[in-house]
Amino acid sequence: MLDVAQFVVHSMVDDGLVSPEDFERAQEHAARAGTDVEDALIALKVVTGRQVAIARARICEYPYVDLDWFEVDFQNALRVPKSVAERLGAFPLFILGDVATIAMEDPLNLQAIDEINQLLRRQIEPIICEPAQLNSLINRAYSLARTTGLAGVDHDDDEELTTGEEPIVAAVNQTIATAIDAGASDVHINPDEHSLNIRYRIDGVLQSQQAPDLSVHPGLIQRLKVMSQLDLTQTRRPQDGKFRFNHADQVIDVRLSLLPTVYGENAVLRLLRPAAAIGSIHDLGMPNEMTAWFEKMITKPHGMILVTGPTGSGKTTTLYTALAQINSPSRNIMTIEDPVEIRLPMIRQVQANHEIGFDFARALRSILRQDPDVVLVGEIRDEETAKIAVQASLTGHLVFSTLHTNDAVGSVARLLDFGLPPFAINNALLGVIAQRLVRCVCDKCVESEESPAEAMAAIGVHDVPRGSFVRGRGCPRCMNTGYHGRMGVFEMLRITSGIKVRIEAGENTTVIREHATSEGMRTMLDDGIAKAQLGLTSIAELAKLNAAIDSALVPASRPEKKAAA
Ligand SMILES: [Zn+2]
Repeated sequence: MLDVAQFVVHSMVDDGLVSPEDFERAQEHAARAGTDVEDALIALKVVTGRQVAIARARICEYPYVDLDWFEVDFQNALRVPKSVAERLGAFPLFILGDVATIAMEDPLNLQAIDEINQLLRRQIEPIICEPAQLNSLINRAYSLARTTGLAGVDHDDDEELTTGEEPIVAAVNQTIATAIDAGASDVHINPDEHSLNIRYRIDGVLQSQQAPDLSVHPGLIQRLKVMSQLDLTQTRRPQDGKFRFNHADQVIDVRLSLLPTVYGENAVLRLLRPAAAIGSIHDLGMPNEMTAWFEKMITKPHGMILVTGPTGSGKTTTLYTALAQINSPSRNIMTIEDPVEIRLPMIRQVQANHEIGFDFARALRSILRQDPDVVLVGEIRDEETAKIAVQASLTGHLVFSTLHTNDAVGSVARLLDFGLPPFAINNALLGVIAQRLVRCVCDKCVESEESPAEAMAAIGVHDVPRGSFVRGRGCPRCMNTGYHGRMGVFEMLRITSGIKVRIEAGENTTVIREHATSEGMRTMLDDGIAKAQLGLTSIAELAKLNAAIDSALVPASRPEKKAAA
């Protein structure tokens, strides 16, 4: 007798999803691995788990559901023990009146339906989903729901419930692991009067997540304090800590910040990417010409390279990518950072500590006595650091740093503000990169967009035919945001002889910018428009970018205002 799995496989062959050759290959693979052909087809990447689930749904005549679309009530985990859910491959999605809708791998498993029916005492309506999605749903649901302490029906055969503390451990681990998988940079745990809110910052935007009950909040915070070795008894003062988290072969450094609020301690976790995430300069997404300039610039034996932009504009990634590229045993590379964000092999990284007076300037002085070839100073934010950094680059060191200015040209005025004479800037500075991050349009739901003329005119796009831009319609992959991932948009000021003449002559920002443009400098917005025309980002993102560049960090860098010179 043919079982359902065989029907499913045959139907996929009939539909042309699986070629006869692949079918044969899968049969051999299944025989060798002791699995069934369905799993073998997935393992061989002939079909996806989703395609199998859809084929199965059609044959069984039950609806297929993409669980990513569902806000599942994790409290349903209290109605079915975890071991049962795992054994049967089933989880209650929602219960309305007398009917329970159950996500199942195999809705023809009548024994499973019977068993769930006994537990829930409801009419069972099975729907079919992808096994991988179901497993991840079951893991999330049980780790979050059990922390509520209402663990009603769910013990007996569940070893994890031996002490009251372990569900909290699982909930914290699950929250961080899910955030890492979602590509989040931060996790916010915010208690308010009646509920607990968990939000992830993904691609720079906060997104709400399913959260456990408010009663769990003190437990979560205690656990985070234990992980970061903080004072467990202190709940009325801000505390900062850090810990390492292992997940899926990655070691993630997590920085924890706790702040007491009227409803309890608010926690923000910053997830720091491992050095392995640092790619090559070509992966930064700079225009080709700029990549070439940048690569040439960082091979100079001495001089200063600045990257400017606000917090969260990707400056650190750009700098670390440059360091990683020139990193070799023959070079002594040292960094002073506040905080150290990514650990790099063979590079001596020093954490500045303002509380004990070990600030950038003082740390930089100490580091220069350690005979470095290359120095990265986290940020130049005062006159003293600016002067030591410039001196260091004039005396045979390659110095990388960041400045808080709006655009690349604005950094000249900023250095002058710090009291540096034009000749020192001219001799030290090799180039300045300004950058911002824009969101990438989700490539799973991209569609062309008829941008309104005024929106395009506002960012300076005039002669481009309507409909040559794109947007994301919204889909499960991008959580209906229409965006997935971010990329940098860049501009680079090269300190050419023509620029030097103008700095020496005390010309203002506008004059320097005009000259840089005549030498081929393209602005961040230009780069963004080029990327939008390639279908990578949207006009809406560029409008945001334009507003962000315009809302001056440093008024001196605005073209229409006279720069201090
Ligand atoms: Zn999408």
